[in-house]
Order: sequence, then C-alpha cells, then structure tokens
Amino acid sequence: MNSFSQLQLAPHLAKAVAEMGYESMTPIQAQAIPVVLSGQDVMGAAQTGTGKTAAFSLPLLQRMLKHENTSTSPARHPVRALVLLPTRELADQVAQQVKMYAKYTQLRCAVVFGGMDMKPQTLELKKGVEVLVATPGRLLDHIEAKTAVLNQVEYVVLDEADRMLDIGLLPDLQRILSYLPKQRTTLLFSATFSPEIKRLAASYLQNPVTIEVARPNQTASTVTQLFYSVPDDDKRRALKQMVKQRSISQAFVFVNSKLGCARLARSLEREGLKTTALHGDKSQDERLKALEAFKKGEVDLLVCTDVAARGLDIKDVPAVFNFDIPYNAEDYIHRIGRTGRAGAEGLAVSFASPTDTRLVTDIEKLTKQKIELLGFDFEDERPTGRINNGRRHWKDDDADHDTMSDAKPAARSRFVPPPKVHDPFFDKPYEASAEPVKSAAVSEQVLSTARSISPNIKPKRTVAALFKTTAID
Ligand code: AMP
Repeated sequence: MNSFSQLQLAPHLAKAVAEMGYESMTPIQAQAIPVVLSGQDVMGAAQTGTGKTAAFSLPLLQRMLKHENTSTSPARHPVRALVLLPTRELADQVAQQVKMYAKYTQLRCAVVFGGMDMKPQTLELKKGVEVLVATPGRLLDHIEAKTAVLNQVEYVVLDEADRMLDIGLLPDLQRILSYLPKQRTTLLFSATFSPEIKRLAASYLQNPVTIEVARPNQTASTVTQLFYSVPDDDKRRALKQMVKQRSISQAFVFVNSKLGCARLARSLEREGLKTTALHGDKSQDERLKALEAFKKGEVDLLVCTDVAARGLDIKDVPAVFNFDIPYNAEDYIHRIGRTGRAGAEGLAVSFASPTDTRLVTDIEKLTKQKIELLGFDFEDERPTGRINNGRRHWKDDDADHDTMSDAKPAARSRFVPPPKVHDPFFDKPYEASAEPVKSAAVSEQVLSTARSISPNIKPKRTVAALFKTTAID
C-alpha cells in the first residue's frame, strides 16, 4: 500500500492530509510526489479525478516550507508557486484544495480568474501570497497592473495543458512564462501528449520525468454505455423519457456548444425539470451558483459544454447524457468519466443522430469497443398539434430545438472536426507500469528536441528563431 507516511511530509502537511481522510496515495501521487520533492520537472499524463492536485501541491508546499514566516510584510510573501488552469471553475477547485493542504502552514494561497471584480483579488495579492492559482487571461491583467509580481517564482504548474492549448491560450501562456525566472521547476499535466503538448514541454521543461497513470482510451468498467439512434428533433423527448423511466436523480447533459447548452437548459426547465446550464458565456457568479446548486442536489440536470465541465470534482453522478456526440472522441472519455467513479455504478447514454455516424466510429476506435446503436422506444407519439392549451406550438419548440447543437443539422453535417493527429504514444493499449517511467523514451525524445529549440534551455538564439514563426505578440 502506498501510504502517505512513506513520504515523511512535514507534520503540518501530514495533519491536513490525515484530516482529508485519504488512506493511501493514488497512483499519480505515489509516482509524482517523490519526483517533485527531488526538484525535477514533470510531464504528467493524468486526468482530473486521479488525485493530481495533491500530487503536485503537497510536494510544492513541502519544498516551500523553508520560506514559511509569520511576517505581515508583503515582501516576505512573494509568489513562489504559480498554478495555471484553463477555466475559472478548475482554478477555484484547485485553489480550494491547495488551501486545505496548506491550512496548518503559514503559506498563503490565492486564486485569480476572470469574470470577477479585480479589486478584492488585488487586495489579496498586495498582502502577499506564496501560491497563486490563476487562469491565464486574468493573470496577465494583474501582471499588467503590477499587482502580480512573478520574479521570485520557483515553481510553475501548467495544469490541463492540452485544454489550455485547445482553447487558444498558448500565446497567453508564452507571455506569462516569459515573465518568470528561468531557474525554476516546471510541472506540466495533460490528458494527452499531443505533438503540441510535446512542443510546449520541449520549450519550457528541463529534463522532465514522464509520469503516466491513465490513458485517455479507457472507460471505467462500472459504466454502462448505451447508444441510441435518435434524430436531433427527438433528442429532448428521449432525454426526458429516460430520466423519468430510470428515475435518474442527477445527471450531466453534454452538448457541443454554448448556444445549444443555454437553449436546452431553458427548454428542459420549461418542461418542469430542475435544470441549470454551465457554459463559458455565463457570468462567473452564475457559474459558481449553478455548480453549487448541482452539488447540493437542488438541481437535477446540469447541462454543460466540455470546456466548462472538464475536471469538475463532482462525485457520484449517477448518469451522463451525450445529448450531442462530441466532436473529439477523447471528450467522450472525459464526459463519461463523470459517472461510475470509485467503483460506483454509472450510466452513460448517448444520442446519435444520423449525421453523427463518423463521430460514433471515432469513439469505437478510441475505446476499442463495438458500439451497438439501439433504436429508441418512445412511450408517446411525437405531438404534432397544439400543446399547452394552445399557448405553444410543438413546431415552435422544434425551431428552438433545431439550433440546439453547434449548428442546424444541415450545417452540422458540414462540420469538419480538427484533423486527427497520429500520436504513437497512445496507439497501444495502456499497461500500467509498476515503476515511475523515468523519462525514458518520451523524455529523451522531448529532451533532444528541447536541447535544440527551447527558449529556456540554451542555446537561446535558436529558440528566438522558433518563436518568430509562432509568437502572436
Ligand atoms: P483531483 O484529481 O486532484 O481533482 O482530485 C480528485 C478528488 O480526489 C478530490 O476530491 C480529492 O480530494 C480526492 N483525493 C485526492 N487524493 C486522494 C487520496 N489519496 N485518497 C482519496 N481521495 C483523494
């Protein structure tokens, strides 16, 4: 058993861990904590939900304890660890965890993300914080306002790095990293090691130890996966029927677009289902409230997009619906990973319209399982006339519904998903390695590239040339 006592954590950290009720280390913790304690860079392939936050924050806090002090002077509490995440919810979630681990120490942790007033964040930063958790955009605002000073940063964590690149945050990341001291420890976590991620690692990590605990082509065996062939216009009816028939108490409902997300949530709510929407266009306050309501069980259906929901630590959701089949098969794995956690039984229901055939085939290939598309047995005939005492025409709802996905069905069929990148790293089925993968093949490969191109690893000239072609600012 991988007990935390093996780590010889400082008593103040060990006490906080014990209070969390953790019995043993998760695989990513057992592998990453000793490496981070030894001061090496890490390139970690691990999904959220694997205990990744403790895997990097506990050893970082332990290493920072030498700076711990009770002084009230802000100068004695410079930012020493910077944790970057793609979304506000994830930043909030990670900061809450770090605060819990650090609660018996004198180390301070703050979180900054957009959509919130800058003033309270500024006040907190001015008092001094050792651990700063942030989303890139808002951090840049604070850097420009000179409220975030990063010249004493010793540790950087790029968490959910693939998602940060997916949503176009590379230029922001590059700018932020340019403000940091070159001499530092950098940890990068990503669900996949795509060529882009490898390039990022090659540019900013030095001699990273590669650690991997879960492959993105695995689905939990405790999740029952059902695929139904349902035309777009009937999906909402199918969803309602399944929730009722199976007495599903709570579920995530995934859609592919913000617009579709808002519309579906509104329409389900109109039909009396306790629903809330979570997507990037909602104000920060609304998003936090939606999450809180779902966590408390005040809301039954959380309709969300992939970016908004990725990595959210909501336990024991009995079911996940793919109202839209995701454009990227990896997202299917992330989505259904929200149910069937920790050995619990879970249900994942996907509604595929006739235009989704290729997306379903992609999921088949990635998960290496044969998908049987079932016909959906509707309890009632699809209403065609007036409903709701004539106040609302079914056709009206249809019009609304047709635009629920990223685009109307006609436009949808024209959708060309981003080209699949061949990544030999993920081609073979996952086999857990008993020992941490000591940077063997991948790191060597990454390193050899790094030696020749990194801006942070000499020689610098070559690096400047590399970024000339990619830099935005
Ligand atoms: P993360 O992947 O860091 O988002 O963690 C997912 C959840 O696992 C969080 O609720 C953590 O509190 C919990 N967790 C982290 N480490 C452990 C552990 N060793 N044992 C049990 N739960 C853990």
